[in-house]
Amino acid sequence: MPMEPLENLFSSSFGLGTMAEDKCGVAGCSEPAVKSYSREAVEKAGLKAADEKNKRMQLCKEHNKQYKKVTKDERKLENLGR
Ligand SMILES: [Zn+2]
Repeated sequence: MPMEPLENLFSSSFGLGTMAEDKCGVAGCSEPAVKSYSREAVEKAGLKAADEKNKRMQLCKEHNKQYKKVTKDERKLENLGR
């Protein structure tokens, strides 16, 4: 019995258009995204969102690193304040 080609399954779940947003949401950046956060959290970390209506924001590798660095510093300060 012939097998259904895997490609058919993939093309139906990765349809055209829906995955196109998978790039960094920081203004002026179009690197591929690796992580997504809430826009509020990202903006708090000092990164500017390209789409200010979006609730969630994708970050590329570089901006993810930047974001993590900032949030880590914040956490450190919080701990010191205790
Ligand atoms: Zn980026």
